[in-house]
Amino acid sequence: MAEETITIADARDLGKVVIVGAGAAGTRFAQALRRGGYDGEVVLVGDERGLPYHRPLLSKEVLSSAKEMDDIRLCSAEDLAEQQIEFVRGTHAVGLDLAGKQVLIEEGESISYDTLIIATGVRPRLVGTAITGGRTHTLHTALECYGLRAALVGAQRVAVIGGGFIGSEIAATVRELGRDVELISSTRHPLERVMGTWAGQHVARVHEANGVQLRMSTRVTDVSATSDGVRVNLADGGTVEADIAIIGIGSSPATQWLENSGLDIHDGVVVDSDGRTQDESIWAIGDIARRRAEDGSTLRVEHWTSATEQADALARLLLGKPPVTIPKLDYLWTDMYGFKIQMFGHIPAGAQEHVLLEEEGKFIVAYTVDGRLCAVVGRGVAGRFMRFRTAVAAGHPVDELIPVAA
Ligand SMILES: Cc1cc2nc3c(=O)[nH]c(=O)nc-3n(C[C@H](O)[C@H](O)[C@H](O)COP(=O)(O)OP(=O)(O)OC[C@H]3O[C@@H](n4cnc5c(N)ncnc54)[C@H](O)[C@@H]3O)c2cc1C
Repeated sequence: MAEETITIADARDLGKVVIVGAGAAGTRFAQALRRGGYDGEVVLVGDERGLPYHRPLLSKEVLSSAKEMDDIRLCSAEDLAEQQIEFVRGTHAVGLDLAGKQVLIEEGESISYDTLIIATGVRPRLVGTAITGGRTHTLHTALECYGLRAALVGAQRVAVIGGGFIGSEIAATVRELGRDVELISSTRHPLERVMGTWAGQHVARVHEANGVQLRMSTRVTDVSATSDGVRVNLADGGTVEADIAIIGIGSSPATQWLENSGLDIHDGVVVDSDGRTQDESIWAIGDIARRRAEDGSTLRVEHWTSATEQADALARLLLGKPPVTIPKLDYLWTDMYGFKIQMFGHIPAGAQEHVLLEEEGKFIVAYTVDGRLCAVVGRGVAGRFMRFRTAVAAGHPVDELIPVAA
């Protein structure tokens, strides 16, 4: 796979930099710009009320109440003040005026910019007519997490819809809280779509061993209210009755505020490999950015490491600093039942599977296409996992991993 290449530009005259979206990418970018020596005006605008935080922990330690928001902050108010980053919180962007260089916010107000960074991430998708709140929940923000925690107090039967990362993690956390959990997914195994069949089967066994009831290969058509809970209606005619339902079926880019702006919006903000939109003063990073590769294909990634790496790379580019050359490779992880599964790369259809290690509580599975590595997935091997990065990024033969895996 190709090394990341970033054209070194002269330090740009950025003027007033406005970042919309105070999540992983937006916050990291603001701080990287300051750390890189930028001394102009930097404004970070976000619609959540609290300080930026480590979102992945919502479905893990915060949902289980092992941690509270103060434990997972990305920075304090003092840090932001010290770095002279103006933090405009609880403010939702509703539109963008490209010609006037204004971010439109509620109540007819606006924030002017010279350079705009779009980092508004994604929002959870819903099922059919289901609405959040009450007995049907999604989990993306701190507010939603605390709403779900409150709902769990009086709930014993919990239906979790969606067998991806978020659904699987929620099912594990809620089960560990002692609730009866039914996990419903259209895939054959949880996590299968991203982490492959082997890891998917492994996670299915772990869920079942922990008492989660699995309903796989079935699509949810709707969630309706009953007198004392919810009924999840399935495409195969079946139903699941529960006290509450939690929907984790994936997300859509938070681009509503950019509709009609004139930017290229296609399942995300379409940008080049550096994050550049067609407007020279506007860039997009993080989950919302659909990056165009040299071969014309586009890719949007919804993972923490990718969001923060994009933020760091863009800050360096805009400051005219040489790029840090890192292999361009997706890294992701998931935590459940006290263990971590990690992954480098991605698994295309038809990739060949190689089980390199299978022990109690540990595995390493590699994937190849035409004999060259494209992905590695591992559990319980965090100490050596990072050593696989170069081999996967370079597409080495799988044999090279055997001494590291053993
Ligand atoms: C529950 C959960 C668990 C996760 N677990 C993992 C994991 O284990 N591993 C992993 O790699 N990734 C995980 N992720 C994904 C990871 O959190 C994201 O990839 C990462 O947060 C993306 O960063 P971002 O800055 O692009 O978007 P976000 O962090 O989503 O930040 C976007 C911010 O913009 C705000 N916003 C949206 N619209 C507007 C608007 N119009 N005006 C103002 N503000 C707006 C949002 O409220 C949000 O605060 C998880 C995500 C969730 C929800």
